[in-house]
Amino acid sequence: MNEALERASAGEELRRADVLELLSLEVGSGDYYALLCAANAEARSRFGGRGAIFAQIGIEASPCPANCGFCSLAKDVFPAENSFVLPVESACYMAGEIAAQGVDELFLMTTANYPQEDFLEYARRVREHIPDGMRFVANVGDFGHEYARELRAAGFTGVYHIRRLGEGRDTELEPAARVRTLDAVKEAGLELYYCVEPIGPEHTYEEIADEMFRAKEYPVGVMAVMKRVCVPGTRLFGRGEISAAELAKICAVAELCVKPERAMGVHEPDELCLMAGANQIYAEVSVNPRDTSLSTETGRGASAAKTKAMLAAAEWRWEGRR
Ligand code: SF4
Repeated sequence: MNEALERASAGEELRRADVLELLSLEVGSGDYYALLCAANAEARSRFGGRGAIFAQIGIEASPCPANCGFCSLAKDVFPAENSFVLPVESACYMAGEIAAQGVDELFLMTTANYPQEDFLEYARRVREHIPDGMRFVANVGDFGHEYARELRAAGFTGVYHIRRLGEGRDTELEPAARVRTLDAVKEAGLELYYCVEPIGPEHTYEEIADEMFRAKEYPVGVMAVMKRVCVPGTRLFGRGEISAAELAKICAVAELCVKPERAMGVHEPDELCLMAGANQIYAEVSVNPRDTSLSTETGRGASAAKTKAMLAAAEWRWEGRR
């Protein structure tokens, strides 16, 4: 067993060199399975065997100026005539249904195009349809300190925000602006949700390790990994996808490096990662940047029932929201 794996198996803090060594393990080798085993054991112990389901409602679709090369809503690929905003009454109904199913946390997502003030008003309405104790998370474009405080006042408890792999190269966003938003989230006392994403075959282990350590340094209680999905028509479609086996390796390293207190997620929902350190997956409804359908629940998005079945298949106990 190599030294990094020994440190990981012993529950020791991983150094950058350890993370790079573990990410370099050959898929299918004995050490690869030992890595997955260590992450799985540690996650089951830290999360007490409990799985988690988060749900996301995409409330709006329009040609997004961020123009991310992997996204179905990027301005280069999304037809303006298909733009739409989910009626707030529909979102309220969906939120109520999601809450009634016992889903742990609810996310609202927009493109980077959606007006900030409109989003606050929309979110206040939706918030009224979920229980007081349910965590409520915004997934929106960049913002500053003042808007972060307004999100909190509107009822949000947290924000999903990331500096993407390839940010500024495969997107038209400034990496520094992404980081400023992360800082604004923390400064406002909102919970930051982080993810290494969207992982493609061209990303180096150095880049992937950078994002793991960024999460660790903030720190975050909910971490995740996500592979890039090849959406037909998008600019990066031809670059292909990493395998499920490779994603499981990255998931295992992220779990052992960051040791998130509340949950370790994976997108898309994936049983292999649920045996490699992940305990949390998403149900999705309405718009989804990884889907060309504007009703992802009939396309790529998993339902709450499917996510429950997947957690059960990997023997994660799901008891619903506490
Ligand atoms: S991933 Fe988000 S920010 Fe990027 S183009 Fe799609 S909607 Fe816009």
